[in-house]
Amino acid sequence: MTRHSTLLTIRVIVESDDIALDEIKTHFLLDENVETAIRDAVRSSMCSGSSLIVECVSTSFTCLDESPGCGRCENCKRWTRDAEGMPETIQIDICRGAVVDGKLLCDECLPTEHPYAF
Ligand SMILES: [Zn+2]
Repeated sequence: MTRHSTLLTIRVIVESDDIALDEIKTHFLLDENVETAIRDAVRSSMCSGSSLIVECVSTSFTCLDESPGCGRCENCKRWTRDAEGMPETIQIDICRGAVVDGKLLCDECLPTEHPYAF
């Protein structure tokens, strides 16, 4: 039997008024409970039985509030990035958007004729 390995990418945005940014960063990057919870959630969402091995291979942390070219869509308030104006060296894997008439819009709110419209 051939064994298949698949890399799943899960992106989560955490917002809080009560928890400081450094505290969120510390919990996410250093707390093994977070990795255990992610592994358990993925494992329980699949029904492959006992042969399923789930391991966390990397974590990262990006403060969206401080990232140039990122912001909330002015229409739906979803986090997005200005894919046209953002330098290629900055790679933030959130919804692709663009600035139209001075407004940052996500791919679902861009005008249908825009090349990044969903
Ligand atoms: Zn939007």
